Amino acid sequence: MILFKKAGELKQYLSGHVLPGQKKGFVPTMGALHEGHISLIERCRQESDLVICSIFVNPAQFNDPADFEKYPITIENDILLLEKAGTDILFLPSVNEIYPNGNPTEHYTLGDIETLLEGRFRPGHFQGVCQVMYRLLKIVEPQLLFMGQKDYQQCIVIQQLLHLMGSSTELVISPTQRESSGLAMSSRNMRLSEKGKETAAAIYQALQWIKAHLQQGTTNDLIQHAGSLLTTAGFDKIDYISIAHAETLVPVDSWDGHTPLVALAAAFLEDVRLIDNLSLN
Ligand code: AMP
Repeated sequence: MILFKKAGELKQYLSGHVLPGQKKGFVPTMGALHEGHISLIERCRQESDLVICSIFVNPAQFNDPADFEKYPITIENDILLLEKAGTDILFLPSVNEIYPNGNPTEHYTLGDIETLLEGRFRPGHFQGVCQVMYRLLKIVEPQLLFMGQKDYQQCIVIQQLLHLMGSSTELVISPTQRESSGLAMSSRNMRLSEKGKETAAAIYQALQWIKAHLQQGTTNDLIQHAGSLLTTAGFDKIDYISIAHAETLVPVDSWDGHTPLVALAAAFLEDVRLIDNLSLN
């Protein structure tokens, strides 16, 4: 694995080492890697000729400075995991390398998706995601971009960004990797106690409960019940539980029995904000 810290050096290397017809695959991350990330690297290795991973904890996408400060950093272990998984290139830039002119100010037209769910509870978050992804995509220029369904709304936003950029990069969405309890793997889980990790599985159980009980008609009762499952389990605060159109994420209050749906949730446990989602049909 070759490590680059400078965008210019990475770009130069790529222009000299990728033959025509070869596919660059890219897995952007914020580090504190776990099996969810590694599943993306493995998929990237299967489908691409060159596996490029980035680790960059992007300050622009943290609406809560305390969350940024507490974000786990495990770079030595990350490097070992990436090497073991067969990564060819790791891009590890500084904040100054990505934002040499200070805080980014560009605005992307994302439409309603920006103010729903994560966008509503984390104002500015998706602008920050696009600000970093635009830069990373311009540096790496991958044919394939691998992202996790764990961040369902982020995948929709990035698809929109690729559209706005007129990019030919193909977005590959990979399934959420879970602990045996059902808890979606996340770097933030490292901040949970052992008991908290057990409790946190309730978020997936609540989504599964929704899936098992979904039927044509009103969805409100399902949301109410899922909320009570989380509260009873010990979650401190629920940002949202939503049953939404799978492509637009607009809430579906009454289901016609056909529209593709996804259930999404965000809730706090032990001061850690957890998100998860489940396709319903
Ligand atoms: P992050 O480091 O949290 O920014 O995540 C980097 C990439 O890994 C994103 O595309 C995430 O959606 C993906 N990812 C995070 N957790 C998981 C998981 N449990 N399963 C699959 N992909 C994941």
